Amino acid sequence: MTTYREYHARSLSDPAGFWSEQAQLIDWHQPFSRALDNSNPPFTKWFVGGTTNLCHNAVDRHLATRADQSALIYVSTETNEEKTYTYRQLYREVNRMAGILQGLGVAPGDRVLIYMPMIPEAAFAMLACVRIGAIHSVVFGGFAAVSLATRIDDAQPKVIVSTDAGSRAGKPVAYKPLLDEAITLARFPPQKVLLVDRKLVPMQRVAERDVDYAALRATHMNDEVPCAWLESSEPSYILYTSGTTGKPKGVQRDTGGYAVALAASMRDIFCCAPGETYFSTSDIGWVVGHSYIVYGPLINGMATVMYEGLPIRPDGGIWWSIVEKYKVSTMFSSPTAIRVLKKQDPALLKKYDLSSLRLLFLAGEPLDESTARWISDGIGKPVVDNYWQTETGWPILGVSRGIEPLPSKFGSPGLPAAGYSVKLYNESTGEEITSPQQKGVVAIEGPLPPGCMTTVWRDDERFKRTYWTSVPNQRVYSTFDWGIRDEDGYFFILGRTDDVINVSGHRLGTREIEESLSSHPNVAEVAVVGVVDPLKGQVAMAFAILKDVTKADTHEKRLAHEGEMMKVVATQLGALARPARVHFVSALPKTRSGKLLRRSIQALAEGRDPGDLTTIEDPTALEQIKRAIHA
Ligand code: ATP
Ligand code: MG
Repeated sequence: MTTYREYHARSLSDPAGFWSEQAQLIDWHQPFSRALDNSNPPFTKWFVGGTTNLCHNAVDRHLATRADQSALIYVSTETNEEKTYTYRQLYREVNRMAGILQGLGVAPGDRVLIYMPMIPEAAFAMLACVRIGAIHSVVFGGFAAVSLATRIDDAQPKVIVSTDAGSRAGKPVAYKPLLDEAITLARFPPQKVLLVDRKLVPMQRVAERDVDYAALRATHMNDEVPCAWLESSEPSYILYTSGTTGKPKGVQRDTGGYAVALAASMRDIFCCAPGETYFSTSDIGWVVGHSYIVYGPLINGMATVMYEGLPIRPDGGIWWSIVEKYKVSTMFSSPTAIRVLKKQDPALLKKYDLSSLRLLFLAGEPLDESTARWISDGIGKPVVDNYWQTETGWPILGVSRGIEPLPSKFGSPGLPAAGYSVKLYNESTGEEITSPQQKGVVAIEGPLPPGCMTTVWRDDERFKRTYWTSVPNQRVYSTFDWGIRDEDGYFFILGRTDDVINVSGHRLGTREIEESLSSHPNVAEVAVVGVVDPLKGQVAMAFAILKDVTKADTHEKRLAHEGEMMKVVATQLGALARPARVHFVSALPKTRSGKLLRRSIQALAEGRDPGDLTTIEDPTALEQIKRAIHA
């Protein structure tokens, strides 16, 4: 048996050979002539000369063996709809959608923007785009007009696919007025808007521009649209980063490399077999939705669950009831979502038969030990942290149990995945850090493996400048995250490079302080930021959500509780790390993708403007921070 260490070492010493073998996991129309061309770094090309198609690999190629097997399982607790599409039915719907898009003038290389909730038509549209060689850009349905307009102008889509409304907690959230406003704001409006009418709210239609999906579908019922065979490096999609740290970047993905990387990750990291069911609780608006709701599971011949709804409605057991009903084998969620469940009745974790479920994967934010233990003990399944970015499209760090069942370590996403040469560097000298337990910037030596971003959409310079020149004296890809590595080579992510505070000349990661506070039994969730201090330079300030608020419902109790928490940090990390204040709030400001907006919290704590808030999930959370500070 190959050990994981050998497997990974070979992926770096012979990338062309290694990935040529992985490339056999997908279908090629024309075989590639060269697995790797890195003659013009950082613009790496994988599988040069090979032609393939993502939709063919996700749908068509399964028709021979699993046409009547489930492909897409749609469950909505918003509208109480539930529908399963077999591979054959999915194939038919995608062909219809492809015919409609072609009829609207969409040609290879054109962009199609998809502004949709979690409904099957969104997946049909994505697959239809890649089928005909059009480039999709999915914009998360929760974004408001300004964020949407910025993305329209950057991608300049010929067509936008949208709908009357999404739904949240059973109440319709109109999309169409936001879309109309965004198109008015945009300098590059689309020619056509294809509207799926869910009949949740009335819609105003713009003559000449807006067309109805149901009506067009009826005229394209029998369309058979051939797959466009794309050269491996041709773009498949553009996806804008979440925008936690600033202006979103249009991450451009290739075609062949992405398909191969996803196929390999399904086997090595996610340990999934064709015919099983995958359930990712993410949204198609995020990278996890692209890779592990739509493309990854389908390329692997699995059924994928598309869930529209909240994790706690009708109650906190909804996910587990889906696992039971559809015999889900693999789940993918985020620490943020688990923290939401943590506030619910834990008995719901035991109510359903979870025997089909093998592993629960979590990514997107640091996974603190108490959350990991809580959910792992609660459902009785291993929890697997994995670390990656919109930019990479699939995990950078994880435990590849499919190759060797190495243990996970709490607090660590694991080891570099195949193809990733992950290193740590001193952020001011650029010197490589090789000794264990020393902090550095997490960076990746080129070439990046298949599947990673190939450039910033229409801005090669920005790709080079942003990602490849930030570690001094090194030509490496910076993740903009801090990390350390232990004696066994496991990485620990300490937060973003802009989440470090300097207390009396000592650099402390806000993540470490958060982790320490989370170990207090009454903390459900916590954010730590650095604020200016005249004596120490900066001090830590914490904002905590309590599980039991009655423990701090009077001034005296609050002070006592705060003191207790400060003591936890002082004991675990030392007096320097002790927060100057621990404020109690009932919500924390987050992006739509569930990431803490630390920069905004910090700005408020320092009496500054919170900055760009177009991606914020719940603006009232900011009000709470303000009130807590001024109380
Ligand atoms: P932007 O780049 O626009 O600021 P973003 O970085 O929040 O947005 P994503 O690409 O969705 O957008 O998030 C990737 C980041 O999320 C990583 O760089 C890291 O900071 C964090 N992250 C993801 N997974 C993990 C994990 N398992 N552990 C710790 N941090 C993680
Ligand atoms: Mg980022």
